[in-house]
Amino acid sequence: MQSELIGEQSAEYFIDLEERYGAHNYHPLDVVIREAEGVWVTDVEGKRYLDCLSAYSAVNQGHAHPKIRKALIEQASRVTLTARAFRNDQLGPFYKELSDLTGYPRVLPMNTGAEAVETAIKLARKWGYKVKGVPEGQAEIIVCEGNFHGRTTTIVGFSTEAQYRDGFGPFTPGFKIIPYGDAGALEKAITPNTVGFLVEPIQGENGVVVPPAGFLRRAAELCKKHRVLLLNDEIQTGLGRTGKLLMQEHDGVRADVIMLGKALSGGFYPVSAVLADEETMGVFHPGDHGSTFGGNPLGAAVARAALRVLVEENLIDNAARMGEYFQDQLAEINSPHIREVRGRGLLIGVELKPEAGGARRFCEALRDRGVLAKETHTHTLRFAPPLVIQRTEIDWALERIRPVLMMA
Ligand SMILES: *Cc1c(COP(=O)(O)O)cnc(C)c1O
Repeated sequence: MQSELIGEQSAEYFIDLEERYGAHNYHPLDVVIREAEGVWVTDVEGKRYLDCLSAYSAVNQGHAHPKIRKALIEQASRVTLTARAFRNDQLGPFYKELSDLTGYPRVLPMNTGAEAVETAIKLARKWGYKVKGVPEGQAEIIVCEGNFHGRTTTIVGFSTEAQYRDGFGPFTPGFKIIPYGDAGALEKAITPNTVGFLVEPIQGENGVVVPPAGFLRRAAELCKKHRVLLLNDEIQTGLGRTGKLLMQEHDGVRADVIMLGKALSGGFYPVSAVLADEETMGVFHPGDHGSTFGGNPLGAAVARAALRVLVEENLIDNAARMGEYFQDQLAEINSPHIREVRGRGLLIGVELKPEAGGARRFCEALRDRGVLAKETHTHTLRFAPPLVIQRTEIDWALERIRPVLMMA
């Protein structure tokens, strides 16, 4: 009995269960996490790691933040789900607090990031038909090469990543693809039927690709000039990750529509939202769109706490300062493998040369030394720790990152 119990605690046991019973739609690093706090996670064998992924920026506030956990537990013991058939006492305050923080007057709550993107697509199309006057069925949305906006059938239909599309057609029509960061191509692609330009301010999943300076601002000007909605996907870049509340602030841009997700709940619960102005959001009427769980009181209470933590603990400022330090230190590593270090705030990519043999083996070596990072796009290591990270912890990580990047 005793030995069986120990066997059941081993990493191999849990990995085997996942491999045997789960769909194989991910290729995770073999670390089985049992608990986490702040920037640290602990595996089932008691080994500690510094998390440099933050669940793709969903735990900006740090793992298991006590204030968010408290809000979750308190709300869970009152009421968790009413559906939007009835009202609840968390949704209104959530709307107001998110609106006050971002300066967007209207909020539409959903659950996952992909749902927020789907919502923005529906919003842009409806606005195009009802406000701009695009002929029925003709609305076009422009997207970028290398985009990542989620995994629904509509969204993968306009991905340029062959694997994301392979086997999943036929796809939703109405999308045009331009090179990322190319304002000239954007202007050429716009027609009288263009209703939206859907863009990530930094392409996180594509390898932390930063567009040329001024691109977002130029895109915003073109959208305004041609009456096209700028649909800014800040699901990964938003909520402090890049050292501003929204990445667009770096460029002095205010998009027509913002998508948020991931860190909106501090990693406790899926909460996403679409933000827009009165006129745009006004095209939605009762029955046009919805979600059973979207706007539920548990998610709203968690999101309210997650936003409060971002502000009260100055995490946005910390991301700016720590991000600059981390990026500078990474750039000083004199490794034969590194092609470029780039990013903004605490969203940092280290692109390796093709001869380095891919980023995966470096991630595995980092894991063995206690740093969790994940390759993004074969040749790039992404470093995106929780925004609560301190300088001593970055130094701890760097002591492990340096030798790994110097290995043969
Ligand atoms: C993660 C992500 C999404 C999708 O969010 P899910 O919650 O996984 O559906 C959309 N856009 C961007 C930029 C993302 O990083």
